[in-house]
Amino acid sequence: MSQAVHNVIIIGSGPAGYTAGLYSARAMMEPMMFAGYMSGGQLMLTSDIENFPGYPQGIGGPEMMIDLRSQAERFGLKVVDKNVERVDFSSRPFGIWVEGEEFRAETVIICTGAEAIWLGAEGEQEQKGRGISTCATCDGAFFKGDEVIVVGGGDSAMEEATFLTRFASKVTIIHRRDVFRASKVMLERAKNHPKIEIRAHRQVKEWLSDDKGLTGAVLEDPRDGSLEEIECTGAFIAIGHRPITEFLGGQVDTDEEGYIIHSEHTMTSIPGIFAAGDVVDTRYRQAITAAGMGCQAAIDAERWLESQH
Ligand code: NAP
Repeated sequence: MSQAVHNVIIIGSGPAGYTAGLYSARAMMEPMMFAGYMSGGQLMLTSDIENFPGYPQGIGGPEMMIDLRSQAERFGLKVVDKNVERVDFSSRPFGIWVEGEEFRAETVIICTGAEAIWLGAEGEQEQKGRGISTCATCDGAFFKGDEVIVVGGGDSAMEEATFLTRFASKVTIIHRRDVFRASKVMLERAKNHPKIEIRAHRQVKEWLSDDKGLTGAVLEDPRDGSLEEIECTGAFIAIGHRPITEFLGGQVDTDEEGYIIHSEHTMTSIPGIFAAGDVVDTRYRQAITAAGMGCQAAIDAERWLESQH
């Protein structure tokens, strides 16, 4: 066991985690963060953030995360780029295990965010990384001059499709309904782009491939079950995310999808354990709301700890 009992350990390093780190560092809590092997969270996979106040020209996702991290580190946040394997929240100080080493903390702030959901259509498993991806920012450049499809009808799908027009000759958005969850501005941008076509009432039933990789997909119209084929060498699935809470082993109350439930302010079902950002948020899921909640969690943790002494 690591000797010291920390005032606060933050798990996860998106905008929620770094903001919690910044606030708790400035409150002299001497916070420690386990940022994960892939620190920075989902925004590391985002091209341009245009809706975070304070950046009139927009900012790249990775750039913003580097800035958030260095701002928090400037005030003393200690960041370790490792994953938390398991936790024991049955007594205080709480236990956290990282690469077999045990750490103890009086309070914990969980900011582990969410990860992309795969579609699960026939042939998907075999084509993952061979043409099918959940991240246009990571893999889009592999498809220069190609025809690609994007599955989904939310902001992620619109964003991925618009980004992919930089590389692909054509981008087809496949959506299972004709009503879109995407915000008006992002939907209109995609609709008006000359390289983007939107196909509503279509669901991917099967992925088609040859020995070189993806060649297309079989699409089904959910209204009458009719089938058609579409050719593509790349496909990007943008149908939402699931919260990263498995490592908690069910010790904190969640809803049926795994999102952590707040019992009071940002506190979870266990006094002293707080949560912020996409790991609790089924409604807003924005960088700015995650950052705001990270700030709230740091203040809540500080006040709670003070009330215990
Ligand atoms: P989302 O808004 O939940 O949209 C998911 C989309 O995937 C929906 O159109 C849904 O269809 C579809 N879908 C879900 N399961 C499916 C399945 N099994 N087969 C086919 N389609 C399926 O998720 P998101 O687009 O990832 O956005 C999540 C949050 O992040 C939102 O709050 C969004 O505003 C935010 N976000 C913001 C930005 C930005 O502002 N720059 C960028 C990306 C995301 P149905 O509508 O039929 O359910």
